[in-house]
Amino acid sequence: MSALTVVVVHPDLLGTYGDGGNGVVLAQRARWRGIETELVDATSDLPLPTGDLYCLGGGEDAAQTASAERLREEGTLERAVGQGAVLLAVCAGYQIVGRSFPAADGRPLSGLGLLDVTTTKGRGRRAVGEILAEPLDEGLPVLTGFENHGGLTTRGPTTAPLARVTAGVGNGDGTEGARSGRVVGTYLHGPVLARNPGFADLLISWATGRVLHALDDAEEAALRKERIAAVRAGRAGGTVRYAPGPS
Ligand code: GLN
Repeated sequence: MSALTVVVVHPDLLGTYGDGGNGVVLAQRARWRGIETELVDATSDLPLPTGDLYCLGGGEDAAQTASAERLREEGTLERAVGQGAVLLAVCAGYQIVGRSFPAADGRPLSGLGLLDVTTTKGRGRRAVGEILAEPLDEGLPVLTGFENHGGLTTRGPTTAPLARVTAGVGNGDGTEGARSGRVVGTYLHGPVLARNPGFADLLISWATGRVLHALDDAEEAALRKERIAAVRAGRAGGTVRYAPGPS
């Protein structure tokens, strides 16, 4: 038995944006700390395995619907979260773990209800481009990533935002992502944990209960510096300064 099992959920459906890389980052950063880690790519044709830390990625509308239906039928992810598993859900994954999200034709579909958020189809242009957001707790440095979504996400009273948007769109109201207990949703691709290693370490420490020693993150720091500077200088391309909202 490994000390940590990281499960990438439905990479065959939610794998369009390279978010499977979040699982690789988590597993490798844990192993670099001497934590024996298993990384499982849990495709949608097999029952979802039990794990300590689940990652859901982004995906297109039809694939997102298929993944949500499969997860709802099974109930394994809700049970795992109920028993204390950590969950990182990105973009389509973030929408799936909320209360409802739009199908390709705009109809609202039920999500898993693990975060008190509701996503509707934005009527403005799609949010596509680099995004920067200042985290609201846990002492993390600015989050950097790339977003590409049509949905607007509204939080209910029981869910706090993950961060405040300083460039880009995020949820659409100046906030980015959501957090409730050990469940975190975000619109950031990149993959987000490759761009934000401190965020990866936070999730590993939640899942293992360990205090993690620092790693040499010089390459990650250089990438962060370049991306953050490009957005701030307006060189990143595609970035919409916060925030269009529905129009
Ligand atoms: N289909 C969703 C949207 O457009 C999610 C997109 C994504 O995962 N990048 O809002």
